[in-house]
Amino acid sequence: KANRKFHPENTVIKVGNVLVGGKDLVVIAGPCSVESEDQIIQVALQVKKAGASMLRGGAFKPRTSPYSFQGLRAEGLVLLKRAGEAAGLPIVSEITNPNYIELFEQYVDLIQVGARNMQNFELLKELGRLKKPILLKRGFSNTLEEMLMACEYIMSEGNQNVILCERGIRTFETYTRNTLDLSAVPALKRMSHLPVLVDPSHGCGLSWMVEPLSKAAVAVGADGLVIEVHNNPMAALSDGPQSITPDEFAYIMPKLREYARLE
Ligand code: PEP
Ligand code: MN
Repeated sequence: KANRKFHPENTVIKVGNVLVGGKDLVVIAGPCSVESEDQIIQVALQVKKAGASMLRGGAFKPRTSPYSFQGLRAEGLVLLKRAGEAAGLPIVSEITNPNYIELFEQYVDLIQVGARNMQNFELLKELGRLKKPILLKRGFSNTLEEMLMACEYIMSEGNQNVILCERGIRTFETYTRNTLDLSAVPALKRMSHLPVLVDPSHGCGLSWMVEPLSKAAVAVGADGLVIEVHNNPMAALSDGPQSITPDEFAYIMPKLREYARLE
């Protein structure tokens, strides 16, 4: 169902009033985790002002260590929704378990499946029974073929609203957190008709590298970006080193729009 062979035109997916996969570059911005009402509202208003299209924020966090901050959970979704409404932005958050589907259906505009759950087939099947758009991130050790098959798990159950996202893969290189596989963009766009986003933040893990990788992603044809923005990266409860400030975000946004215009 994701195969371009049977669906030659690009698919445009509507999230709230935002069109993903159309002519406009879509930029999803916000902190890795929702940490407090003040934090998420402040970031929401600032990224909106800078031209972001959607607000992101993790509430159920899949952390490597059980001793790390696990997210505000349901309370985080409530705060994220409040911030999205305050700023006039649709909201994106990651689901980790099929038990939370009703909660996410009620609160979130775009449901994210994270890298760690890309092959959680029971979760994918359940999400396939919804109408809500799904943001499917690539697993860090998964091939593009595996990613498209994960996508089929959602689409074959009836939900055709899937947006793909490259977010870096594991390689032997350790300088960056992951190796951002930009070749995934033209490859996925050739193989499928779905919109393709790039997450440079998780792709490299380094805030200073977010700008050049964002430009490169736009240049290779990404339909949009997912960028982690935090009001105080040094004090962030997760992914501080890869988070840019709202000021830095406001500084790179016009440049990205310019790259998109040249595309
Ligand atoms: C995230 O978006 O904060 C996240 C955990 O992403 P990924 O699943 O790509 O690691
Ligand atoms: Mn993160």
